[in-house]
Amino acid sequence: MHIYDDRSLTGKPKTSGKKKSLKAMAIAANRNHIAKLNNFKTNAYKRGMGSSFYGTQEWRKLRYKVLVKSNGCCVLCGRSSRKNHIVLHVDHIKPRYTHPWLELEESNLQVLCEDCNLGKGIS
Ligand SMILES: [Zn+2]
Repeated sequence: MHIYDDRSLTGKPKTSGKKKSLKAMAIAANRNHIAKLNNFKTNAYKRGMGSSFYGTQEWRKLRYKVLVKSNGCCVLCGRSSRKNHIVLHVDHIKPRYTHPWLELEESNLQVLCEDCNLGKGIS
């Protein structure tokens, strides 16, 4: 009687893992970014946050801290609200819509005057 050995079906040697291409890594990083973003949005939604972000105490406290640290001066042109009577904005270096998890990250904030801030997106 013939004994059937089914190991021969699965006994293929595994091919050793190829090095990931740079493109594959970029895609993976992007996927990770989107996953983070979606995760954050879901959590923010659960917390009842949204457009009301700028009204939160956390933001106001941090904003004030950043303004005090900057001495009330725009980091680009150096004008100050006191001397030059300009309006200062606390700007997210990485925008909230792409990096919402950095919205309360002090290192992601910079003080800009209105002119510099509005000119940021224009090149
Ligand atoms: Zn400025």
